[in-house]
Amino acid sequence: MLSEHIFYSGAIAILIGLIFYRYTGRDSSWIIILCAWAPDLDLFLYHGAFHNIVIMIIFGIIMAFLLQSFGIKFFDAFFFSVIGFCAHLLEDAVVFEEAYPFLWPFSTNTTGLALFPDVISSRGRYIGNFFRIANTDVLIIGLVFLLLAIIIRTYFEGPTWIRWYMPEKFYLKIIGIFQSGRLP
Ligand SMILES: [Zn+2]
Repeated sequence: MLSEHIFYSGAIAILIGLIFYRYTGRDSSWIIILCAWAPDLDLFLYHGAFHNIVIMIIFGIIMAFLLQSFGIKFFDAFFFSVIGFCAHLLEDAVVFEEAYPFLWPFSTNTTGLALFPDVISSRGRYIGNFFRIANTDVLIIGLVFLLLAIIIRTYFEGPTWIRWYMPEKFYLKIIGIFQSGRLP
């Protein structure tokens, strides 16, 4: 499971961003999408090694320092990085029956929720039956989630929230095209 994370994390980002913006007037929830694959960096090491809450906190602190130099508030960067990391862990937990020791060092339990019972083959491998890049079931539910998040946020906030997910220049260009009623 790799590309599927983008859809689920995208949906979570849009909804967390909706709430965060309401209370702070800021929204850096794109960081959640940026961190959608962060725990899987352990693929280069020992898979599962980063899939726990200790690495999640350490990752959040590192990202907070890094993103601070890009003008993002320390708290915002930490908050969204941790949520982004946590979203990935949750997504793995929801899909797999035998997942990772997420609560290490408090617990070594690796049991997931296994809400998608048919994603593991008899050989114990993830079934990537969508062009070998995703599992169709997991992907479709992820897409539905993302669409729902888009609809919910647009309903409460109007379409302007998309500005948080693109460079300002790009957003202004889009707005310009819409307001002049012409295509480029
Ligand atoms: Zn993972």
